[in-house]
Amino acid sequence: MSASAELAERPRTSRGSDFDAIIIGAGISGMFMLYRLRELGIKARVFEAGADLGGTWYWNRYPGARFDSESWTYGYSFSKELMQEWDWKEHFSPQPDTLEYLNYVAQKFDLRRDMQFGSTVTSAHWDDAANQWTVTLENGEQARSRLLFTAIGILSAYTLPAIPGRDSFRGPAYHPARWPHTPVDFSGKRVGIIGTGATAIQAIPEIARQAKHLTVFQRRPNWAAPLHNAKIGQAEMQEIKSRYEEIYAHCAKTASWFIHEADRRKTLDVPPEEREAFWEKLYAEPGFGIWMGNFRDILIDEKANAAISEFIAKKIRQRVKDPKVADKLIPKDHGFGTRRVPLESGYFEAYNRDNVTLVDTINDEPIECITPKGVQTRAREYEFDILVYATGFDGVTGAFDRIDIRGMDGMHLKDAWTDGPRTYLGMLAEGFPNLLMVLGPHTARGNIPQAIEHSVEFQAGILRFMQEHNYTRVETRPEHVAEWTQIVIKASEPLLSSKVDSWQTGVNRNVEGRTVRRVLGYNGNGVHFRRKTDEVAKGGYQEFLFR
Ligand SMILES: Cc1cc2nc3c(=O)[nH]c(=O)nc-3n(C[C@H](O)[C@H](O)[C@H](O)COP(=O)(O)OP(=O)(O)OC[C@H]3O[C@@H](n4cnc5c(N)ncnc54)[C@H](O)[C@@H]3O)c2cc1C
Repeated sequence: MSASAELAERPRTSRGSDFDAIIIGAGISGMFMLYRLRELGIKARVFEAGADLGGTWYWNRYPGARFDSESWTYGYSFSKELMQEWDWKEHFSPQPDTLEYLNYVAQKFDLRRDMQFGSTVTSAHWDDAANQWTVTLENGEQARSRLLFTAIGILSAYTLPAIPGRDSFRGPAYHPARWPHTPVDFSGKRVGIIGTGATAIQAIPEIARQAKHLTVFQRRPNWAAPLHNAKIGQAEMQEIKSRYEEIYAHCAKTASWFIHEADRRKTLDVPPEEREAFWEKLYAEPGFGIWMGNFRDILIDEKANAAISEFIAKKIRQRVKDPKVADKLIPKDHGFGTRRVPLESGYFEAYNRDNVTLVDTINDEPIECITPKGVQTRAREYEFDILVYATGFDGVTGAFDRIDIRGMDGMHLKDAWTDGPRTYLGMLAEGFPNLLMVLGPHTARGNIPQAIEHSVEFQAGILRFMQEHNYTRVETRPEHVAEWTQIVIKASEPLLSSKVDSWQTGVNRNVEGRTVRRVLGYNGNGVHFRRKTDEVAKGGYQEFLFR
């Protein structure tokens, strides 16, 4: 009998529980966790707020939505068969294709039968005596399980602009993360978009092409660099398939699990002409090379960062015809690469169009309110047919805060994390037994599906260990939480990004109380993270308390 068949023969449901495990969220994390739990013979139920699976790729249907990881490094790698079956159509897959991919995965592995959609979890309370979690849905329905997995995403808690009169607008107003399922027709329409983050940077060129007029309200400009997307032909896809093992092995050895690897030379040690030629090359190449394949010290050394920032600023000036508009699009309050760099396709050229206007809401025209007709700034009222609130997400901890999670002695997770998250490896929190987080705060992220797979595999290892020893409860030890929290904070300290407001440092001016920077992710080297987790597994999970 195989090990997994033997495990599958164990009683499936703990006494008094509805399921052995509950997973919250049916995105890439929840789907893979469900797959692994089934293999372990653990009876699981997934509760998903959306009407179907896919997470990010179910919700974000705005024009231009796509990821900027190379497609052939973004898919699951746990099934070689799946990798060989699926053909990516573009190097940076657009949202509809990625959602199609996730549907293909769900169908292939029959995942839907254990998923319950339209089921927002509002609370999860630990019952110490019963050794189980009670999960409550928005409609009052309850379910109990021994194990609880959060797979709720780092960019799933969307935020609307905190502007007076927001709901008074008479026309349709959309947030990109709650985009309608039928395409929005912008033709002949006056459109206003609030925000110039990663989403807006993707959507603006697309909307500009259709709309009668597009007005962009910008608070803080973001650095952006070209994506250089292209279609993947059949021969190229075959060639990629033949190299999958090598590609994923390579990613696993890089700091962020992308194909790109930083150059160890110091920026200012490289002669200016050579440096310029290197940057020209990176700027002309697809993907994150300009950010992750650049000189390593651009992310830690102010002078090196100033040099690359000036290079990118020069590019913006070259691409935007009106020097005043170009100047407004160049960030002055942070350097290139210190916030996640959005990759764009014709973003800067959109401002050369006669039907696009940029409004600087910090220096020129602060927004006073949203009106029934449009947007009132200090200078005038802008009238619109459609408004887009591209105001992003309450990153990383936002989705946790929206659930009333209580552990031992009724302790609220939100309270336990008031001064910032405290976890062990971003996977367990002190005082919350049997709560495992996939892609939780303080874990390594980088190329996210690879981080998810790593995290799920590690947690499956813990579960296997528990089954082998007949344990029903896992907790983290306080000293290891303290140690890991320190490691995470220390890893962020040298980075210039830690001194910049962004969703990655937990700042979101549209959310009350989100004005103080926090360290929300493990920003050290992904290779070190893998090594650490491998050591913990090899050492027999001594950092955990089992019962
Ligand atoms: C526009 C955009 C572009 C991106 N591009 C990239 C990229 O290029 N590379 C990259 O690595 N990552 C990218 N990301 C990050 C992306 O979120 C991850 O790659 C990945 O999709 C995360 O999967 P997940 O399952 O962990 O979370 P999600 O996909 O966010 O799924 C979480 C699910 O949990 C559900 N949920 C949350 N709370 C509850 C609740 N209380 N009750 C029930 N259900 C709940 C949500 O509805 C959602 O469906 C991008 C994100 C966005 C928004």
